[in-house]
Amino acid sequence: LFDDFEDTAEQLKPRSPVVVVMGHVDHGKTSLLDAIRDTNVTEGEFGGITQHIGAHRVRVGEKKITFLDTPGHEAFTAMRARGALVTDIAILVVAADDGIMPQTIEAINHAKAAEVSIIVAINKIDKDGANPDKVKQELMEHGLVPEEWGGDTICVEVSAKKRQNIKELLEMVLLVAEMKELKANPDRKAKGTVIESQLDKGRGSVATVLVQNGTLHVGDYVVAGTASGRVRAMNNDKGKSVKKAGPSIPVEILGLSEVPEGGDEFYVVEDERKARSVVENRKFQEKKEKQKSATAISLDNLFEQIEAGKMKDLNIVVKADVQGSVEAVKQSLERISNDEVRVNVIHGAVGAINESDVMLASASNAIIVGFNVRPTNGASDAAEDAGVDLRMYRVIYDAIEDIEKAMKGMLEPTFREEVTGHVEIRTTFKVSGVGTIGGAYVLDGKIRRDSLVRVVRDGIVIHEGELNSLKRFKDDVKEVNAGYECGLSVSNYNDIKDGDIIEAYIMAQVEPE
Ligand code: GDP
Repeated sequence: LFDDFEDTAEQLKPRSPVVVVMGHVDHGKTSLLDAIRDTNVTEGEFGGITQHIGAHRVRVGEKKITFLDTPGHEAFTAMRARGALVTDIAILVVAADDGIMPQTIEAINHAKAAEVSIIVAINKIDKDGANPDKVKQELMEHGLVPEEWGGDTICVEVSAKKRQNIKELLEMVLLVAEMKELKANPDRKAKGTVIESQLDKGRGSVATVLVQNGTLHVGDYVVAGTASGRVRAMNNDKGKSVKKAGPSIPVEILGLSEVPEGGDEFYVVEDERKARSVVENRKFQEKKEKQKSATAISLDNLFEQIEAGKMKDLNIVVKADVQGSVEAVKQSLERISNDEVRVNVIHGAVGAINESDVMLASASNAIIVGFNVRPTNGASDAAEDAGVDLRMYRVIYDAIEDIEKAMKGMLEPTFREEVTGHVEIRTTFKVSGVGTIGGAYVLDGKIRRDSLVRVVRDGIVIHEGELNSLKRFKDDVKEVNAGYECGLSVSNYNDIKDGDIIEAYIMAQVEPE
């Protein structure tokens, strides 16, 4: 689609780390971000007032660090669910007087699933009752062994409120970043991720993007999700207008046709025409995905992928009513692993299935297995939207049996493409402003207005897309059956010719037996 060449070792230059702050509610994520921002201000760097654009940069000595402004693993994983991995390092905030809490564990598992490095900020050390050693003990129980105890997890004791040890924390971030040898090639067309976006009355679509590779310039043609356009202006996190932005730099860009979504990928293309065609194609793919999302991450679907050699791991999120069940389920499920497929429980916890579980599952291609628990309303909706398979069981044995069955490929696929009919183009005419209209005859089955279509010429598929219009005489219709004539046009495709066959299909869900 675009110049997706590999950068050579000489082209790669060091880039600054991108960091997210995670942790349990009220442990001090927001306060820590504020403290970090302040540290930078007292350094007297550039006016100091940070514009809210969704991410900001701080200077530490000669180096810089980019922080995402939305704390919490939910936002982080929601982005990852959309295919975006933007962070290199997660700062896990744990209040020293409270210790590890349920959302701390979620955050640890979300960060681990994304394979980002974790640095622990043991916060609120100014408080009476602060017990950093107890926190470290608890971290060990969750697989994070503090460095001073022989492990590789860096822990820094801080007070966000009293602004204590903030610089030390930032230095540790740089240390970890250095070990990761983060690099990018500034001398290529930019590519990155949309961090957040909004529709501004005066300025139109405003999107904050994080450049991850290459350099973005004012005047570049960009595609972001299903939005496209020419970058009219850019502002940095200090509200200053800039002409270009290199790797790890967040900028606000103006000039997109629509408002993209956080987590959307963006990249620069040669020209406007290219930008538009990429967007059209994306919209089509999205529609196709939407039709089938209902079962996107079902057990069957996962096993199809495993069978096709695309995947070796079956990821599972386990929620249960009591801790004993979580452990038992985890052990029994992981024991099913065989030579081809490894079953991984990436997160296990007590309680209802929540939205964060769904996001984690979606981002990690996992299914969710619940024992004597139900999903919250929000979680059911989110699961449906994201196409995450929720499986509820009362006994472990049933779950094991289902998963073993699926591993042997015995469950029927729950979803497949269904051809609804074929239409023959018998005449065409060009209508200015509309494109090519085909006068057609439905050979078999039926064609629906919302059908996905393939244009087939001499047995070869020459275009895939969707319908732009479907008419009987002058009227728009929902469907046309075999034996009837109709008029149709295909979105963004004007080369239909007499004799072309239009194959209409839908992505249909198949009921399990
Ligand atoms: P978040 O929910 O994780 O974003 O937590 P906040 O940053 O909103 O902090 C929750 C509460 O803890 C607020 O009342 C803060 O003032 C307080 N707090 C945060 N950091 C510290 C700290 O280092 N020491 C003390 N004593 N209180 C803190």
